[in-house]
Amino acid sequence: MQITFHGAAGTVTGSQYLVAINGRRLLLECGLYQGKRDEARERNRHLPFPAREVEAVVLSHAHIDHSGNLPNLVKSGFDGPIYCTRATADLLGAMLLDSGRLQERDVDYVNKKRRQRGEPPVEPIYTEAEATRALRQVVGLPYDRSLPILPGVTLTLLDAGHMLGSAIVLLEVEEDGRRRRLVFSGDLGRPGMPLLRDPAHPGRADILLLEGTYGDRRHPPLEDSAAALGEVIRATARRGGKVIIPAFAVERTQLLVLLLNRLYHQGNLPEIPVFVDSPLAVDVTQVFRSHPECFDEATLAELRQDPDRDVFGFRRLTYIREVEKSKALNLLAGPCVILSASGMCEAGRIQHHLKNAVEDHRHTILIVGWQAPNTLGRRLVEKQPVVRIFGEEYRLRAQVVTLNGFSGHADREDLLGWVRAFHTPPEQVFLVHGEPQALDGLATALTGELGLPRVLVPAPHQTAAC
Ligand SMILES: [Zn+2]
Ligand SMILES: [Zn+2]
Repeated sequence: MQITFHGAAGTVTGSQYLVAINGRRLLLECGLYQGKRDEARERNRHLPFPAREVEAVVLSHAHIDHSGNLPNLVKSGFDGPIYCTRATADLLGAMLLDSGRLQERDVDYVNKKRRQRGEPPVEPIYTEAEATRALRQVVGLPYDRSLPILPGVTLTLLDAGHMLGSAIVLLEVEEDGRRRRLVFSGDLGRPGMPLLRDPAHPGRADILLLEGTYGDRRHPPLEDSAAALGEVIRATARRGGKVIIPAFAVERTQLLVLLLNRLYHQGNLPEIPVFVDSPLAVDVTQVFRSHPECFDEATLAELRQDPDRDVFGFRRLTYIREVEKSKALNLLAGPCVILSASGMCEAGRIQHHLKNAVEDHRHTILIVGWQAPNTLGRRLVEKQPVVRIFGEEYRLRAQVVTLNGFSGHADREDLLGWVRAFHTPPEQVFLVHGEPQALDGLATALTGELGLPRVLVPAPHQTAAC
């Protein structure tokens, strides 16, 4: 067996691992690389292997950095099945189409600039129509059922507890008379998260691909952030202000809505309207509602007791899809809560809401996710006195509150705990999906504290024979 680490090697983005078994090629993940525009477009357009030679894809979950280059893979000649869970398959239906529209819009903008410079236009990485085309190859599987997918390769998807439909990938491989278990953690969730079950465990692994996004860090407890969410909203409402929450449309928005639903039914949410202003969030929430088989016991109990049988909706919550209704929010005078995308404030409707709120001390900008360097979100977290939105400068007078406890990723202790649960230590561990510092920290802990024999942090495009 050979594994080539084409993406999310020494970084968190662009997951892509090509596995050669019995002379066949299987692709684990086909994510979009996210970074500086020109570099990202080049990397994403040119796949580092011939798409036609890939016979099957296995996808751990729907996040775009894991799934977002599938339409390009199909466009480049891949015509095999794309295996994932049923919930992931449904999420792809909303997310890849949205991504196709974004690619088209992005290229419109780039080409306008290129025309001014007398340069020829560039093509989008893929279009909405090409994303639709790729969906035909998606095969949704239930958790915990084994399926032979290639000669000598059996696939089982276990719950990863990271987002709706997320999976740990178990490949049972028979090659040259040897049977081995390859386990890919996917993005591993945190035990005790609302909505989702705790990450499952495959028991045994010979070869382990483990994510290490937070391999060198601890998360604050979710309960503290959930309690702070209520406090921030109550305090802002008392001042007559709005709470503006930039949040990714997938997963983070649904988690917050679930927590707001709880606060509402506990009587801990002030009498103010709540808006989710994002067309993608509206579509994705609908997918969440239709997959109760992915919920944990507590959420199922909550669902049974919920007066309107909907943990993603309550009387004062309004989902907004139309642009006109989104614009109308600007005219709303009294206090309210607005959740909108993008999560790092770099695009989308959130920028309009921020523009309107940022100069008024009564309002609160509530940051609920990690903000990359050089994004508007990061500048807000740093409380820079002046911020630029749509090319204009605004004084930051609104309160900025950052809550770091909502992460959907296992932290250092969670990862070590999960690895400790293997019956026997995996003979070979590859650490992926993390910045070098996080992966190195985790590697040290795995070899030092857990005594694992072989832990490797592969470089981009490195091939390992195992
Ligand atoms: Zn993820
Ligand atoms: Zn990821």
